[in-house]
Amino acid sequence: MSRFSQLAAILIAAAVFLLDTLTTYDIAVAVLYVTVVLLSLNFASRTGLLLIAAACMGLTVLSYMIEHGFDLPSEPLGRCFVSLAAIGISTFLVLRLKTSISVLAESEQRYRTIFLATGVAILEMDFTELKVAIDDFKARGYQSAEAAAQSDPDFVRKAVRLMRLTNANNTTLTMFKAKNIETFKSALPDLVGQDMESSIWGLLAAIWDGKSAYESDTAMNDMNGTRLTILYNVALPADRPALDLVLISIMDVTARREAEDGLHAAQAELAHVTRVATLGELTVSIAHEVNQPLAAVVTNGEAGLRWLKRPQPDLTEVEASLRRIISDAQRASEVIRHLRALASKAIPQTIPVDINEVIEEAIELVQREIMNNRIGVRLELAGNLPAVLGDPVQLQQVVINLIINAIQAMGTNEHKARQLSVTSSAGDDSIRVGINDTGPGFDAGEAANLFNAFYTTKPEGMGMGLSICRSIVSAHGGRISARSEPGLGTSFEFTIPFQKEDA
Ligand code: ADP
Repeated sequence: MSRFSQLAAILIAAAVFLLDTLTTYDIAVAVLYVTVVLLSLNFASRTGLLLIAAACMGLTVLSYMIEHGFDLPSEPLGRCFVSLAAIGISTFLVLRLKTSISVLAESEQRYRTIFLATGVAILEMDFTELKVAIDDFKARGYQSAEAAAQSDPDFVRKAVRLMRLTNANNTTLTMFKAKNIETFKSALPDLVGQDMESSIWGLLAAIWDGKSAYESDTAMNDMNGTRLTILYNVALPADRPALDLVLISIMDVTARREAEDGLHAAQAELAHVTRVATLGELTVSIAHEVNQPLAAVVTNGEAGLRWLKRPQPDLTEVEASLRRIISDAQRASEVIRHLRALASKAIPQTIPVDINEVIEEAIELVQREIMNNRIGVRLELAGNLPAVLGDPVQLQQVVINLIINAIQAMGTNEHKARQLSVTSSAGDDSIRVGINDTGPGFDAGEAANLFNAFYTTKPEGMGMGLSICRSIVSAHGGRISARSEPGLGTSFEFTIPFQKEDA
């Protein structure tokens, strides 16, 4: 192409020069040099183009000189100027065109480089047939992708086969263990397993609604049948409504997800360990909590026996004693059930939780600690709080940790009131729990470290309590914060979002 253009340009230039010099037509023959300039676009650089344009102008002037010498007849001179202007303007336009072409080529090159070298798998796909199939559903009166899904649940499999792969980068082949594009192309529909179907329905709904992008995480198989956890993004360009060029980028997050799962498992393990440590701190309370009902059982048993041993046994009193024995025994077993839950390694569950119940039970468990430290407790629990979704044992762990910290902080108060107040209230979208003490508080400098693992100012401290509280609260979608007026006390507050009824 470039050689042909070069030859054609030379021939045309020669022909125009001869025609212009040897003939005496009343037209500006030299304007035809514009063709030479246009042809040069195919082979010349910017400087080359300028030189060619200058040569064409030189030839124009040369022809004029050969024909007219230094005479200046007005018509031929006018034609000469018209030709020079035409060559100049076309050169200017061709140079601009050349700039645009090189910008375009550069951007195309950049795209190709990204396409080939990026660590993200990129698939170029043609969804034309899929778009037609979706439009067909619309034409048949279906109002939404869900309605289409209900009438033809198998459509998702057909849809996968209607998505045509046109190109894929090397990362794609490496990620899916494919030898080449052809084998990947034919295997692709089968790599979409059943567990990816709901994600594909999401994509179909996005196309149905005319969205310009869709993102989802799901699982997909590679060509060896290994499951990959992937995050994929589909760009559905609005300027190509036929969807003949759809870009899909895929990130393999299998390793990251495994690491996250490992981290969650480690966190759960740590939460368990700190719970057991908390229980260790609570031994006195626990012994008391269990001992008290057991002592009451004994007392009531003895009383019952005395009523029985009378010459006239008072069966009503015996019955009352037995009932008290039953309720005390139930209390003891209830306490043990709570302790069991706290000490258990059960997998966290997600059930509706009444936060007030969590707080009241926590207070019961630390009752002895509260009494021993002569602490006054004020509970301000809002009525009718909506339930939050979460793990009651974990949430109780948070409340217990915060209360024990408050008790320990106030343990140093010699002459100051020791007042613990626990509040609950409902905000717009979350429940707030406040735990306030009248302890020494903490300095501004300490505030940043409080929630860090292993940060402790206590000789026997582990420094894990607040860090665990924070990870439990954030796993429930909430936040925890601490405020302190040094010398006046500390307020911890955490929020747990609830599901709105109208949501
Ligand atoms: P630990 O109780 O084992 O020290 P935590 O993570 O529960 O671990 O607490 C970390 C630190 O935060 C404590 O050592 C203490 O300095 C500070 N802290 C926690 N609660 C309070 C509080 N109510 N008042 C003052 N300081 C507190």
